[in-house]
Amino acid sequence: MDFSDSPEERDVREEIRTWIAANLPEALRGDAGEGEWGQLSSGHERDRAAMATWRERLQSRGFVAPAWPKRYGGAELPVMQQFILKEEMARARAPRFGGVGIGWVAPTLMQFGEDWMKERFIEPILAGRERWCQGFSEPGAGSDLASVQTRAVRDGDDFVVTGQKIWTSGAHISDWMILLARTDPAAPKHKGLSYFLLDMKTPGITLTPIVNMVGNSGFNQVFFENVRVPARNLVGQENRGWYVAATTLDFERSLVDLCLEYQVIVLELIRWAREASTAGLTAETRHALVELLIEIEVARNLSLRVVSMQARGQIPNYEASIVKLFASELEQRMATATFHLGGMLSQLTGRRQSRWEPLMGRLGRFQLHSVAATIGGGTSEVQRNIAATRGLGLPRG
Ligand SMILES: Cc1cc2nc3c(=O)[nH]c(=O)nc-3n(C[C@H](O)[C@H](O)[C@H](O)COP(=O)(O)OP(=O)(O)OC[C@H]3O[C@@H](n4cnc5c(N)ncnc54)[C@H](O)[C@@H]3O)c2cc1C
Repeated sequence: MDFSDSPEERDVREEIRTWIAANLPEALRGDAGEGEWGQLSSGHERDRAAMATWRERLQSRGFVAPAWPKRYGGAELPVMQQFILKEEMARARAPRFGGVGIGWVAPTLMQFGEDWMKERFIEPILAGRERWCQGFSEPGAGSDLASVQTRAVRDGDDFVVTGQKIWTSGAHISDWMILLARTDPAAPKHKGLSYFLLDMKTPGITLTPIVNMVGNSGFNQVFFENVRVPARNLVGQENRGWYVAATTLDFERSLVDLCLEYQVIVLELIRWAREASTAGLTAETRHALVELLIEIEVARNLSLRVVSMQARGQIPNYEASIVKLFASELEQRMATATFHLGGMLSQLTGRRQSRWEPLMGRLGRFQLHSVAATIGGGTSEVQRNIAATRGLGLPRG
């Protein structure tokens, strides 16, 4: 198999690279400052004017959501060209716009939403005017998502929602939620769920922030007490929400971009190791860094497998699980390497520009963030189960 670009892809890459170089605002170039590794899009939040300009320029080419159809403001780029665009954006450390709305909600609505939903919700998502969160997990329903207990009971033109969600990323800054709730408790568990669009300003919703190990409160517990959702906000059919949610999760698990960001991180790590080490690098350190680069190349090729399946119109399944599994565990190996490289100081997580705080605390924060990589979006055990049963045809345990 030839992994290099075709002549046409080479031209596209060249064109995109030149376009990014000419259009990425000066303030967003180079070092990501105090931004987090692995979350390049949030690295520049401090410069809102430059971010707005960049968003506008990207949108003039349909590059905010390059996979979307043109009628929704996308670029309809073929899958391979989407990959090239992401690769070039990662290489230039150019922030991207994505998240729950662009990545999962809008594509789900394009497939299952009624016309009024597409008209009402997709444009504000693309323009970044409305943010979304995902209300799926509950204290007793994570890996086994079909066990969701939050109830939605029909009452006239509304459903009345009571229950609790947990780990809801960004709920505190979201305008809307995609909500999975039980509408038929008597049916088998996969067949009694419905999928709703919930306005986060509706009375009866209470949020409690959850502070993570890094000290951020990015996710929340969300409580619902007699929250009224109009019945027209049901996506797909009542009690068929599991199938809509499964589509949303498929969008969530195609983590192709992540491997590209890892490459940027390791190259930055190498640059830092070179500069920070006065006595030169030990053979052990050099080997550890080379090992990571090789693993990133493996991750990239696993991603390319998913991308080439998509390009042929096939739907990746266990192949996407393998990418998620390998990439998230690679992130943790990268975090361990930063610890060995930076020693005790690498654990500091402040954001000061000081020689005592390597890379403005990014090493330390990366180590802490990486712990969640093998949990969020489906745990490693679950991905291994998928690869074993659907990929290898092994019987369930
Ligand atoms: C950073 C982060 C952000 C998140 N954001 C959101 C969000 O925005 N919205 C949302 O709805 N959820 C979110 N989640 C929740 C996430 O989807 C769940 O944490 C995840 O699905 C695991 O579920 P759980 O936490 O209930 O663990 P459990 O499912 O209880 O798993 C506990 C342990 O048991 C293992 N296990 C479970 N079932 C099996 C099995 N069949 N075979 C082998 N081992 C098994 C798991 O691998 C794990 O080690 C987020 C999680 C994280 C970490």
